[in-house]
Amino acid sequence: MKTSTTDIAIIGAGPAGAAAAAWLASRGHRVRIVERARFPRFSIGESLLPQCMAYLAECGLLETVEAGGYQRKNGAAFCWSGSYRAIDFRDKFSPGPSTTFQVPRADFDQRLIEGARALGAEVDFATEVIDFQADAARPRLEVRDEHGVERSIEARFVLDASGYGRVLARLAKLDRPSRLDERCALFTHVEDRIDSESGFDREKILIGIHPKRSGVWFWLIPFSDGRASLGVVGSAAEIDALPGDDAERLFALIEEEPRLAELLARAAPVREIQRLRGYSADVSRLHGPGYALLGNAGEFLDPVFSSGVTVALHSAVLAAPLVERQLQGEEIDWQRQFELPLRRGVATFREFVEAWYDGRLPRIIFSEGQPARIRTMISAVLAGYAWDQANPLVSASRRRLDSLAASCTHHR
Ligand code: FAD
Repeated sequence: MKTSTTDIAIIGAGPAGAAAAAWLASRGHRVRIVERARFPRFSIGESLLPQCMAYLAECGLLETVEAGGYQRKNGAAFCWSGSYRAIDFRDKFSPGPSTTFQVPRADFDQRLIEGARALGAEVDFATEVIDFQADAARPRLEVRDEHGVERSIEARFVLDASGYGRVLARLAKLDRPSRLDERCALFTHVEDRIDSESGFDREKILIGIHPKRSGVWFWLIPFSDGRASLGVVGSAAEIDALPGDDAERLFALIEEEPRLAELLARAAPVREIQRLRGYSADVSRLHGPGYALLGNAGEFLDPVFSSGVTVALHSAVLAAPLVERQLQGEEIDWQRQFELPLRRGVATFREFVEAWYDGRLPRIIFSEGQPARIRTMISAVLAGYAWDQANPLVSASRRRLDSLAASCTHHR
């Protein structure tokens, strides 16, 4: 079998893989990405968080994203049984960018990988990683192209950015069930035809809470071209109990949320309705001899706070400099320097996800008369600043969320 060599082999050309590749290639390292799909390809995960703009800049990819003509995003809005709350990221506790974009991922991911290529990374599309041998000095991937031809890639370090492919979680037996309940999402893109008189703010993601079905919520993410991403999340049992096919189920549920029903009265789907189930996942560890796991290939929580791409990019900018230092001969403590700091921010998001589903967070968001400073702390976490330990809602998330929820009177 043919064997080629590289400095860093990366599995997957999504945001995590492209960002790590761009960072490393721009510093002169030989980088080879192996990507199963041909790009552009659809992916879910279209609402970014402002924090990720800083990571894109660190990787030299911000300019290409800015040139994409995407819908600007400055916050998150929530509707629940006739009440509306908007959180504006420009008013937030943590320093850093306060706006971002809502992006069709086929185009966004294509831009990122082309940006990485322009910085010197090489990409093999339509090539799948089928096996892996861990080794502290010479880890090795076995890959197969679309014609069935197999070959090996020997690297000095391997980054797994295979997202839902979870390549090393499977091959290195790292899989661990998520602590979150299993949920299911139905989604599509629509020509939204939202009336400009409707008061709808295209610069915010709109999250709708189902008025009666506990744990069921919707997203509406407008793009710059008159289209929008639309989806619903709930337990599979609840969604499967509805009559009809998935398209009928999605639109029947939307009919039950008054604000979304009104906004989307003239919407027309432009993609097949898709279903994803059991997407929350975890691994026992994020590193091993000669490898580390980035983005969704490691832990994925839940879509509600649009944190996936931000976590993916954070993992890339944390890992890439460590890989460089290791290749330069430094001893890297991957647990202390990568896994623990990465997991700290993910834990903040997890506390928020748990508080969302058990009702504490909706209560906090919809309560009235909250001190402005508290709102800026919530805004910062929802803007992706989940690693800023100066924010009490980051450093002591659970305790603070508990006490905030306890002090809220529920107004809707
Ligand atoms: P991916 O983007 O999944 O990229 C992985 C790449 O690896 C893919 O291109 C794949 O083809 C490739 N690959 C897989 N297996 C192999 C293999 N064996 N060999 C070679 N290549 C392989 N996140 C947000 O930030 N905002 C949102 O609004 C949002 N909404 C979401 C809604 C839902 C319903 C879900 C489930 C998730 C959502 N997410 C969102 C999360 C987001 O989809 C992911 O977190 C994000 O795409 C992770 O990026 P990544 O680079 O880790 O992986």
